[in-house]
Amino acid sequence: MSSGYRFIVDTMLGDLARWLRILGYDTVYSRIYSDREVLELAFLGGRVLVTRDGGLYRRAVKMGVKSVLVESTIIEERLAEVSVKLGIDLIVDPEKSRCPECNGVLERVEDKSLVKDRVPPNALNSYDIFYVCSKCGKAYWEGSHWHNIRRVIEEAKRRAEEYRKAYRPRKIKTRKGFGSSAFKDKNTPHNVGADTEASEQA
Ligand SMILES: [Zn+2]
Repeated sequence: MSSGYRFIVDTMLGDLARWLRILGYDTVYSRIYSDREVLELAFLGGRVLVTRDGGLYRRAVKMGVKSVLVESTIIEERLAEVSVKLGIDLIVDPEKSRCPECNGVLERVEDKSLVKDRVPPNALNSYDIFYVCSKCGKAYWEGSHWHNIRRVIEEAKRRAEEYRKAYRPRKIKTRKGFGSSAFKDKNTPHNVGADTEASEQA
């Protein structure tokens, strides 16, 4: 993770929400949010909106909410799109990952007695480092699923390289004086043109 972005992901992109958490990003996601709630949470919480809904995307941009419109349907390409449009690196570091289930912060645990009731015996014997979610208590370790995580990320990086060559940022006019400074977080880069559309002729 190399930026201070925090995200809110719309209800159609649950897989992407999990991956952003794995990449270490504080990511809000729920199937029950209405569009209005999503916009409010993005605006008030200083979160970047990630959406597949063009209408929602435009509403957000006009409010001054930084947004990414994701067009792909497969996860490797979705990650590539977000990476290129926001300029974020696709690097997984388990020390920085968040719980993909609930967005909780993971805590490194080396004392096996602390996780023995939530890790299967074979994993407990084979691994020395575990990560426990501070919110839901779920335990993680770099088991066989880890190869899949690495594979997806490597493929996403490859696609990001291709996507970067073809990508031309566009600009959308934001409503002047409305909102954009309201959530300038000191950790959030706000000079990235990202997915804002077309102002040349505006
Ligand atoms: Zn959790």
